[in-house]
Amino acid sequence: MPRIHLVNPSSQSFGVAVITPRWLYVLAAATGNRWGDPQITDETLDPLDLDSIEAGDVVGIGIHTGNARRGYEIGRGARQRGAWVVFGGIHTTLFPDEVVSHGHAHAVVKGDGDVVWPRVVEDCLAGRPLPVYEGGRIGGDQFVSARWDLLGNRRYMFGSVQTVRGCPKHCSFCSVWRTDGQEPRQRAADRVVQEVVELRRLGFRFIVLADDNFYPVTFDDLAQARRRSDTSRLRELEALRDERFELMARLAELPDDLVFYTQITMEAAEDPAFLDAMKRARVLGALVGVESVTRQGLKDVYKGFNLSGDELVSRLRAFRRHGVYILGSFIFGLPSDAKDTFDTTVALAEQADLTFAQFVLLTPFPGTVDFEKWAAEENRRGTNVDGVPVTQHWLIPEDRRPKVYTPHPTMSLEDIRIGTQRAWDRFYSWRRVWARSRVVESMRARCAFVLVSKMYRQMYANTGMATDSARVQRSARWARWLGLACRRLFLGKPMPDLVAPGEHPQPAGH
Ligand code: SF4
Repeated sequence: MPRIHLVNPSSQSFGVAVITPRWLYVLAAATGNRWGDPQITDETLDPLDLDSIEAGDVVGIGIHTGNARRGYEIGRGARQRGAWVVFGGIHTTLFPDEVVSHGHAHAVVKGDGDVVWPRVVEDCLAGRPLPVYEGGRIGGDQFVSARWDLLGNRRYMFGSVQTVRGCPKHCSFCSVWRTDGQEPRQRAADRVVQEVVELRRLGFRFIVLADDNFYPVTFDDLAQARRRSDTSRLRELEALRDERFELMARLAELPDDLVFYTQITMEAAEDPAFLDAMKRARVLGALVGVESVTRQGLKDVYKGFNLSGDELVSRLRAFRRHGVYILGSFIFGLPSDAKDTFDTTVALAEQADLTFAQFVLLTPFPGTVDFEKWAAEENRRGTNVDGVPVTQHWLIPEDRRPKVYTPHPTMSLEDIRIGTQRAWDRFYSWRRVWARSRVVESMRARCAFVLVSKMYRQMYANTGMATDSARVQRSARWARWLGLACRRLFLGKPMPDLVAPGEHPQPAGH
């Protein structure tokens, strides 16, 4: 019988990985069991063995811009072996024609795959796939729960569950609001809790709530809706907000060794009731896109709803006061940045008591407003590398690929690269990491904190910032070693008999 393969491409395999790639297990569930369990390959753990693919199999490959080139290699290899090749993911949604020409796809899925996927498989196995399937943006009640029973041995540190898709904001460097839409699509609390329970049964204590924005309704949104004569929008927003509180109340009932992480906008800090509910639910960590510490920098990225300077520090500290620890994300290379921006940013991150920080180069990613502006200019100039337009930089071999960035009015790319590296080095120096490790109490937990901080820096700073491939390889080896050491600290004892609150255990033998 032909088999269904689901592949998450990666040109680097670490043997262990931080977060479970949720889409693999969601599509595995969507596949159903008519064709047996799908064969899942996450190349961030191990490379795909092409020999495992046979003529007539269906191979589903999910890509974003970062792994598109490796995905295309797999697509071509699978098609050569006579398999049906289907691509999905954000990059496919943005560039379906490129996926067909470079990845030799029989079919592409645009938008959400949850509902349309079984039909794609059925059509392939009947020998007549359509060239394009429109998955669209499905409602929260249609999100498919992942099949965590297929996870196999425990090589991930964090489980991942989604509670909401879409973000009402419109930041210029982000594609989420364009691909997932600006209307939040929330999932019922019951379904989220059920998945969390399944993950805890397997031994996961740390779970990422893989949401676009965990705080989709702000005070400002409510105030705007209140000003309208038609109250239907206000009622909708209030219902969304109530559902968030219901979800957090349900999470609070789960075993108390669970810890959740999420992504959230800074506006949540003005909402003490929400922060307290997060604390009770043990949503103790959140990535906040601070982006820039200056007002002009925030304007550069259409993120005027963030604060700057002292107000920014006090807002970030509000999270900490309520027991929510922040990973602050900063962008370097904004037009208003200057040579002192790097040090000022690190100083603010420390003043604001951030637990973790990441410093990224402003990169025009496809699907964003920034990309469109940058690509129009580069296309006019006709810049290319080995005949490939730089506006399709993801198709250039990695060792020939230029660092893609928006030209800066006062700094060279090298200035920005060195400044960014210095920010990582300073924020993650041994002395500073050890001082920050006071957020946890026991010596064992402090050592774990140090290991995790160093691994985070290794995985996200050095592999991305290094300029020569030998350094990238060395960084990857370090990250792999640290990943192995950290993994044990994350996993708990499995709780196979755990039941969800309100769920009745099955009598033995049934
Ligand atoms: S960066 Fe965050 S807040 Fe801005 S649009 Fe993207 S998901 Fe929304």
